[in-house]
Formats: sequence, structure tokens, C-alpha cells
Amino acid sequence: MGGVSASPIESYPGLGADLLKWYDLCARDLPWRRTQDPYGIWISEIMLQQTRVDVVIERWLRFMERFPRVSELARAQEDEVLAEWAGLGYYRRARAIHAAARVIMEQHNGVFPQTHNDVLDLPGIGPYTAGAITSIAFGQQEALVDGNVERVFARLFQLDEITGSAPLKREAWDLARELVPKTRPGDWNQALMELGATVCTPRNPNCGACPARELCKCAGALEAATYPRPKPPREVIKLEVECLVIRREQQVLLVRRPDAGRMGGLYELPTREVSWSSSEPPGIFPEQWPAGLESSEGEPLAQVSHTITKHRIQAAICLGTALGMPNQALWAGPDDWARLGLSGMTSKALSKSGVEIATLRADTRS
Ligand code: SF4
Repeated sequence: MGGVSASPIESYPGLGADLLKWYDLCARDLPWRRTQDPYGIWISEIMLQQTRVDVVIERWLRFMERFPRVSELARAQEDEVLAEWAGLGYYRRARAIHAAARVIMEQHNGVFPQTHNDVLDLPGIGPYTAGAITSIAFGQQEALVDGNVERVFARLFQLDEITGSAPLKREAWDLARELVPKTRPGDWNQALMELGATVCTPRNPNCGACPARELCKCAGALEAATYPRPKPPREVIKLEVECLVIRREQQVLLVRRPDAGRMGGLYELPTREVSWSSSEPPGIFPEQWPAGLESSEGEPLAQVSHTITKHRIQAAICLGTALGMPNQALWAGPDDWARLGLSGMTSKALSKSGVEIATLRADTRS
């Protein structure tokens, strides 16, 4: 198996019409599907890349209210954009859309570019997102492949390569380019993704409800769920860290993460790696406290579990003291936290140790 011998259009007559008819009847009513505005479609596509649809619905509406046009997004400070993105994870997406908004203002006079190459040139936009924006917002005959499309193609055409692998991506893109129609290319692309999200799902493909079942090489077979072929299991790294709650009246000390790298630009409690199951330290946090900070004696205030990609983190939240101010540190109270853009683990840590912090504030006043 593996390759696709005949042209998919010759081998799969009627696929396009069946899929579009199904999409017209069954597509979910999602807020970004009610607009042709490339800006709104772009934001939705970026949010959806690593976040579930049910979470994105509320967050997209909120983001569009906060930054309704590309000009408002470009004018905002990066910290404001990161704060609005807080909780969605993968913060480099937020930094990239902010940078891209500024490029659109400076190089395209505030008008979203329309050619595939110009869209592809914007920060944070790859072939998938460029295909989505140009086909959905501008009706151009551009293809796209995401995880859903890759899975649907792997089953429809019984492609044997490993999920996410370069050969499977290449085959899926070839098929996508060959199949995308001149008319309604955006709906075709969305129909493929919708089919993958709602019918041809990873574990339980519902072949009985699928508009492509007559043509699909895996339809109804138990083995359909085994396509695309799975990756070998990923190593999980256990990581223990300590976070310091250092208070000054009603504020705690927060440190800004470096711009480059994971969670770049977000604020967090001073955190250090204590032990790990991998041969090398994961390096998400430093191993030493920043100069001038130290932990106090006594039991931790709280324990927090958190996951960052393959790292399962157990964080002990401890009281600490500051003999000086480290670089990139500031004092911030609860009113500032939402505005600053906190890392997910620090948000959890502050909320879990909230009672204790409140108690300590009372102690300070008395
Ligand atoms: S028939 Fe089944 S396996 Fe084939 S595309 Fe449809 S849901 Fe997926």
C-alpha cells in the first residue's frame, strides 16, 4: 500500500459534491464561520491550532471584542496581548499574531494581504493557515492539511505512513492540492476538517454517518481507527520544582520569562527545578534561585500539578524572602495579575495558595 496510483479525482468521482452537501446540512454553527473578515478567520485559525473548539468559541469572541480590528491589535502592548491569551497556552502564537498585526499595519497599510505568498510571509503563518485564510476569506483555490485532514485522507486512501511523519504530510498535501475545487474551496477545506472533527474522529470513526463511506477504503472496518499509523509512545518526564511566594504587603514578587523560548514574556513566581526523571535537566526553569532570593524554612503552602508538553510537573509552593530584586522582577498584587499575563502554573499556584496568602496579608496588617 502506501502511494496513491490514480488521480484521486478520477478514482473518487462525486466526493466533492457529497462532502459539500453534507457540510451544508451538518456543519457546526461556529462564530468565525459567520464572517468573511480575514482578520477574524486568521485569529480563529491560530487559536484552533492547539486548543479545543469549545474553549476557542468563548475566547475568540472575547478576543474579537478586546481587539476588534488589526489596528487595535497592532497598537496594543505585547503584555496586553499575552494577558488576553492567558490560559490558551503555546504563547508564541500570541506573540506571532501581535508581530503580524504590526507587519500588516506597516507593510500593507492596515489591509490584510490577499495573495497566498504575502499571507505566508506574515509571522506565525505556515502553509496550513495561509491555505485556510486565502480559501475561506478570499475564495482562492488553495489547499490545506491539518491533523483532521491528514487522518481523513489516511483512511479514505488507506495511506500506511506514520501519523505526523514527513511522507504522510507530503502525500496528504499532494492529495489536498489535487482535490481542492475551484468553486467553494473554503467550504471544501472546512468540510474536510469538519468531517475529521465530528465523524472521522481519531478513535471511533462513525462510518455509518459519513458522506464518503461509498468511496473510503477503510469504511466500516475495525482497522479504520488504526489509520493513520500511530507514533511510538512518547517519553514522559517527571519534574519536581519549587516556586517561591515572596510577599510585600499585598503583593508577591513575579519574574518575567525571557522573550525567546517557552512561555516567553509571561510572568511567574520564581521557580527552580529540583529533580527530574530524564538524564539531563529539562531546563524549563533554572536550577538555582535568582541572586538575592531564598526559600524560608517550613512546610510548603501547597502542591500543584501541571503539564507542559511531555513534562509532568509537581510544584511545591514555598514561602521565600528577597534580599534584592532580580532582573526582570516586579511586585504585583492580585489586581495586576490578570493584566500582566501569568504562566499557567503560576496562576494555579497563586489560586491554590490563595487562602494562605490572604491569611498572611491579615497577619501583616495586624
Ligand atoms: S468512511 Fe469511515 S473511515 Fe472512511 S472517511 Fe468516513 S468515517 Fe472515516
